[in-house]
Amino acid sequence: MIRINENYLKLQSSYLFSDIAKRMARFQEANPEREIIRLGIGDVTRALPRACIEAFHKAVDEMANESTFRGYGPEQGYPFLREAIAAHDFQARGADISPDEVFVSDGAKCDTGNFQELFSTDIVIAIPDPVYPVYVDSNVMSGRTGFFSHGRYEGLVYLESTTENHYVPHIPKERVDLIYLCFPNNPTGATASKEQLQLWVDYARQNRSLILFDAAYESYIRDDSLPHSIYEMKGARDVAVEFRSFSKNAGFTGTRCAYSVVPKSVSVYDSEGNRHALHALWNRRHTTKFNGVAYPVQKAAEAVYSEEGQEEVRNLIEGYLTNARLVRRTMTDLGYECVGGKNSPYIWVDAKMDSWEFFELLLRKAGVVCTPGSGFGRCGTHHVRISAFNSYENIEKAMGKIADALK
Ligand code: PLP
Repeated sequence: MIRINENYLKLQSSYLFSDIAKRMARFQEANPEREIIRLGIGDVTRALPRACIEAFHKAVDEMANESTFRGYGPEQGYPFLREAIAAHDFQARGADISPDEVFVSDGAKCDTGNFQELFSTDIVIAIPDPVYPVYVDSNVMSGRTGFFSHGRYEGLVYLESTTENHYVPHIPKERVDLIYLCFPNNPTGATASKEQLQLWVDYARQNRSLILFDAAYESYIRDDSLPHSIYEMKGARDVAVEFRSFSKNAGFTGTRCAYSVVPKSVSVYDSEGNRHALHALWNRRHTTKFNGVAYPVQKAAEAVYSEEGQEEVRNLIEGYLTNARLVRRTMTDLGYECVGGKNSPYIWVDAKMDSWEFFELLLRKAGVVCTPGSGFGRCGTHHVRISAFNSYENIEKAMGKIADALK
């Protein structure tokens, strides 16, 4: 008989977005005349930059001609894109990353979910709470946790992000092997300073741990004092992997292109303490299980780095950040403590009540949909996430309705 991987049975069904959809549908059915504005899901709403579209079209046309057609490309990505990434996103910021340390992929979701495959099942893993759920679930699937009980998986070390630590978790007291960090954070929108990230890098160096740093929202950073990459920290090249994505800067959520950076200097160890290069392991995994991102998509991504592309991306993000500022100002003026929304498209609001209750309140009184924080972990039970991904008109309307309803 064909048997299953029983770790899958430990997974908690994610009812979050289906619950939200059900409650929304129920409300709409009972109130067909009411308009609902969705500020729940973290998907972008604006079209791709023109520079990307033009490069995309041109590359598609190349596929129609035998002399310029391309079949399988390099699994790790075409050199033109890897070189542009290394030069613009890292070397320009003083981070010593070379093109062959960049692995182009079809999403940071896949990369952050797949990376754990390289490690033993008995390592100790530290995961933030609240958290982007992929980090947790991919480790549950691989058998690195016990069962779910009282809102948490046994065996994981949870890094709590709360008002007390300004949503940047403290270094754990115990020794951990693998550390997931995400800044600017989803869902809280919090950012980490250079000093805070340096502490994590120093910890990882002292403990021979590895940091998986998710920087999917890096392009929202506006505060010049904040680091954009973990490789701006001293010694990070030896202990950190970084994930980036074109989803939230250039609107590639449906187009799919991202990348992981795995420096050649990162060492990992076997059970006898022998060193291995993480780069070689990931290269082996990537080339075995992945066959590259479509050429036209990589061309579109390369255009992000053109002068025109950079300006368009800046404008796109500025639009979402203008929305975010309005959300944060409105909620703060109403007396709610907020984090995020300054260097991030998400605003994490202290609801002062159960997160689902607040969700219902906003839906019924204002017709606005947010995301209950409990869906991201136990530390989110009294928070909601409001997303700035919508048109300014809708955000303005939603904030007006919330202000009228909660005054
Ligand atoms: N990492 C974080 C923290 C995210 O919030 C998301 C998407 O919402 C992703 C990764 C996924 O990015 P991609 O679209 O590249 O798969």
